[in-house]
Amino acid sequence: MAIDFATLKQMAEQSAAVTQSCSCNDAQAWSWQQMPLTLELDQFEETGTLVENPYDEPTFEEYHPAGTRLQSDDAPIAPRYYPANLSQVLRCVKCSRLYLRYTEGGGYFTEVRIRALQPQLLVDAAL
Ligand SMILES: [Zn+2]
Repeated sequence: MAIDFATLKQMAEQSAAVTQSCSCNDAQAWSWQQMPLTLELDQFEETGTLVENPYDEPTFEEYHPAGTRLQSDDAPIAPRYYPANLSQVLRCVKCSRLYLRYTEGGGYFTEVRIRALQPQLLVDAAL
């Protein structure tokens, strides 16, 4: 079951309040980016998903009312829109900061991408 918006917002606020220095924060994943080579996948544990129904065909529509782009630092994080709607929520086991992760592409090309879960960017936008 997908994490509901209120819980997600609360989780994001807790994550943003972490001040401990950590390699995950040094990577500055403010926008979607390829999983940095400096981070190891086992540094993260999955704590939940934003996928509402794994049997539904997910939308590839993006949410950019202010003209941002997928890779903008200030692009909204709208859980029902691509790519947040395909994302898992990860927690860094060292510092407890939270990230979203999804896999871009398919077939012969895939890339794991992450983005810091930032409360000020969360938008509860309906499709
Ligand atoms: Zn960390």
